[in-house]
Order: sequence, then C-alpha cells, then structure tokens
Amino acid sequence: MNGDEVVLENIERLRVERKAVILAHNYQRPEIQDIADFVGDSLGLARKASSVDAEVIVFCGVHFMAEISAIVNPDRITLLPDTDAGCPLADTITPQGLITLKKLHPQAMVVTYVNSPANVKAESDYCCTSGNAVEVVKAIEAPEIIFTPDRNLGRYVQKVTGRELIIWEGCCPIHDKISVEMVVEQKRLHPEALVVAHPECREEVLDLADEVASTSGMFKVVEDGGRDEVIVLTEAGMGHPLSKRFPDKQFFFPREEPLCPDMKLITLEKVERSLRDLAPRVTVPEDIRLNALLAVERMLEIG
Ligand code: SF4
Repeated sequence: MNGDEVVLENIERLRVERKAVILAHNYQRPEIQDIADFVGDSLGLARKASSVDAEVIVFCGVHFMAEISAIVNPDRITLLPDTDAGCPLADTITPQGLITLKKLHPQAMVVTYVNSPANVKAESDYCCTSGNAVEVVKAIEAPEIIFTPDRNLGRYVQKVTGRELIIWEGCCPIHDKISVEMVVEQKRLHPEALVVAHPECREEVLDLADEVASTSGMFKVVEDGGRDEVIVLTEAGMGHPLSKRFPDKQFFFPREEPLCPDMKLITLEKVERSLRDLAPRVTVPEDIRLNALLAVERMLEIG
C-alpha cells in the first residue's frame, strides 16, 4: 500500500470508530470531495449539519462554515482540519461595525450572508446564502434592510427584488477579481457555451451571464440548459463536482483560474489527523451561539 492508500484506509477506519460524518464544500480539493459523505454549498451543508446522525462532524470548508455547524450542533463535536482556513470576505465585517450601522438605521432588519463570523450573525435578524438571499429579502416586510457583508450579492439581490438595501462594502476577492475581459475571452473561445455566474461576481460580470446561481443552483442550470459547453464563473474547484455529475459536458473557467487558497488548505492528511486527535475543534460561546442560531433558523425556515 502506498502512503495515500494508508491515509485513506485510516480515514475510513477512524470515520467509523468516531461515528463521524465528513462534509465538504464544492470548492474543496477533488480528493477531499471524493471522501466526503456530503458535498454541497453553504446552505446544503448548513442543512446537513443540522440533520446528520453523527457524534463528530468533520467540516472541510472554511472557518465560518464550521461555526455554523457548531451553532446548530452544540452537542456534537465539529472539527475544522485546518484552523487557518478562513474567509477574507467574512473578515470584512465585525460586530462593532454592524452595531454602528444599526444605530444609524434603527428601523432596519439585518440580513447577513452566511460568509460572516458567528458574532456578526448574532447581531443579525436573518442569515442568508447565495442560494436563498432573494427569498429571504422578499420575505421581510421591514421598511429598511441592511445587507452584509457582500456588496456584489447585495446589489444582485437589490436588482432582482427591487428593494432598496443598505449594503455593507465587503466582497469575496476571488469572485470580485473575475473581470468582463475574462468573460468576453471565454465567450469568444466558446461561442456556443452557456454562461453561469455566482452572484458574488461583480454586476457587470453578472450582466454577461445567461444565468446567475449559487454553486448548488448551478447543477440545475447545467441540467436544464441543454448545452454541451458551459462557462462557469466561480471558484474553479466547482469543476470537479460538475464534471462528475455531467461527464459528457465541458466546463470552462476564466483563463486565470479563480482559486481560493483558504478552500485548498484541507488535505487528506489533515482530515486523518483531525479524526485521530479529535482536533482542532470549533466552538461558539453560548450567548453568541443562541443569538446566531435564531438568525440561522429563520433562514432555514424560509428555504
Ligand atoms: S471563495 Fe471567497 S467567499 Fe468563499 S471562502 Fe474563499 S474568499 Fe471566502
């Protein structure tokens, strides 16, 4: 047996011994997606984390995602195999910053994208993901809505719902870097291709897309799109689950591939170590957890 096979065998053994489930985001390395019990986007993973029958959840994603698991599963152990896996978008907002903004708009309800720290969720009325942000905003009747922390998603939701939003000026550097020129180049190379974009992309990039969808929504778009070639405007890890699901289709990403270094930090060796040592664990202080849970549950209720 070579080294990789030993690691894989250890993971299989430890997964059973620890009564663990492995959840992986669509942007994770292919080999991590391939050992996961469930692969999905943040909404799918949040739902899964709240319904799995396991004592240990190994979260292969970034820190805020593991925090959601800890928020909805206080009695289970949530592991994040590499604690350096953070999210620069989540880092753009602090609870103090949000509290200051709330004071300026005391009538406003706060909708916070899941890509945010737990202590910011705790200051929010609703959470949302890219898959349900439009539905969440549509469901709110308050005169004002603060939307944090992704400005591109906020502007997209504003456009689709027609609601004026007070938008936090954060962004995902990976999606924000996808330019009009990159998309035009791919469209020139693949003129018959369907173009699907993640709503964390800039408005002018979304304007060039045939469809805007979350990573999970992209599967349905590709299925219904009826095209053999698809230009995908999101993190390039998405190519793996798409190619697995649709082996006869071709997927193209911008030439300078959008890659999130944080999403690539988790390796098979780190998953093995994490299962063996039951560390590093992610926990959320109880007062923050309870307030954040309210916002997460309101989101899960809406869909
Ligand atoms: S792709 Fe963007 S939003 Fe997702 S974890 Fe990386 S930096 Fe954060």
